[in-house]
Amino acid sequence: MYEKPHQSSTYIIHTSLLFNSRTLKFDTDQSITVNPKTGRIVSVTPTPPNLSHVSYPDLDLRGCTVLPGFVDAHAHVFVHPYTETPALNQERDESLTERVLRAGNNAKAGLKAGFTTYRDLGTEGAFNADIGVRDAISRGIIPGPRLFVATEALASTGGYEIRHENKIGGTSVPRLSDVCDGVDGVKMGVRRRLGAGADVIKFYAEYRRRTLRFPQPAWPGSQSIRYPPYATGGGNAILSSMNPPSTLFDQEEMNAIVQTAKRAKCPVASHASSPEAVIMASNAGVTSIEHGSLPSEESLKAMKKNDTIYVPTLCVADIELDDKEFRKAILGHARKANEMGIRLATGGDTGESAHGNNVRELELFLEAGISLEDTLRAATLGGWEACGGDWCGYRSGWVGEGWQADLVVLGGDLREDQGALRRVEMVIKDGNVVVDGGFIIE
Ligand SMILES: [Zn+2]
Repeated sequence: MYEKPHQSSTYIIHTSLLFNSRTLKFDTDQSITVNPKTGRIVSVTPTPPNLSHVSYPDLDLRGCTVLPGFVDAHAHVFVHPYTETPALNQERDESLTERVLRAGNNAKAGLKAGFTTYRDLGTEGAFNADIGVRDAISRGIIPGPRLFVATEALASTGGYEIRHENKIGGTSVPRLSDVCDGVDGVKMGVRRRLGAGADVIKFYAEYRRRTLRFPQPAWPGSQSIRYPPYATGGGNAILSSMNPPSTLFDQEEMNAIVQTAKRAKCPVASHASSPEAVIMASNAGVTSIEHGSLPSEESLKAMKKNDTIYVPTLCVADIELDDKEFRKAILGHARKANEMGIRLATGGDTGESAHGNNVRELELFLEAGISLEDTLRAATLGGWEACGGDWCGYRSGWVGEGWQADLVVLGGDLREDQGALRRVEMVIKDGNVVVDGGFIIE
């Protein structure tokens, strides 16, 4: 069992296989000196060839695969799988207390899975409660990944809200978004989020705004539309649904969101799937496109031209799509993005996909045909870039001098056995061992 090193001392971690997220190579026999007081890496040097016995507080991780701590670039720490409890019931019926306690459990599960950073893109009805969870983790009150949070997402009037049909008589439900309209309105929206403490601005470039036009049955005994409208999306599973997405903001509004956020050195994440929304958000200069699922050459070209980071959230397609061909097309779209040199980050829309199963997104990258090295880059350095890179206030996602000492240690040689992604032997965050042998060290 690991004992915490004295807080004022540095210690050395000896490795035989260390992933370098910049060169995309596995370096052999490297020793990492870390300072658990500053949380940073002091140096990375070749391991002495005659090193045999390693004694406390140094760590001997030879024989394992050591990587920068994983980043989940699209998570929702307040959400658990919709297969357990539909989104509507989580947002409307679970108490804020339950949701916050669940967030604590979810944070632990993510940390155990090797994720030392979460970019958390919206509380989904829990107001600004992510701020408190982030700070509780940062203060050492509860264990968890370092959170970069969006608080509430921005959407325009009638765009992203809890859909319920009984709107008469003062029925009240939590709001799902901070509503803002017009250039001045969206600037105020961004400023409200920054003032609340957001690390990243999330906005909905599009959503199913007209979902109450043909409402889905949403409670026991409610009925389906008997004669549904004709499909209009050219056979596309999303666009042909009864409630296809439509853009929520004009180009000028998206531009204003991005400009206001960037003036405060804050990254912007945009929910968008259709080519129209992806292109508008990318042209506005967002940091990242979330989902972007509808295969489109034009979407990819826009992201390439604007150097937009793409977070394809393949877990969503994996969970939601019965249509095998469409699922394959979405995975192929992500592979194509990688081939075109678009920067990627891995994020499973975690929450809908269970916390603790975060690595599923990496597995889907591999299934899509993205190389192991490119996948690992997306899961480390790519995630840090999506958090805003140097704007985020920390350097993480690479093992080098001055960078945050976040490491995940996998059993065996990952190059030979990708199953090692699920064999997390140890997690080090800010230079401290936080998970050892599957147990959280508090
Ligand atoms: Zn999401």
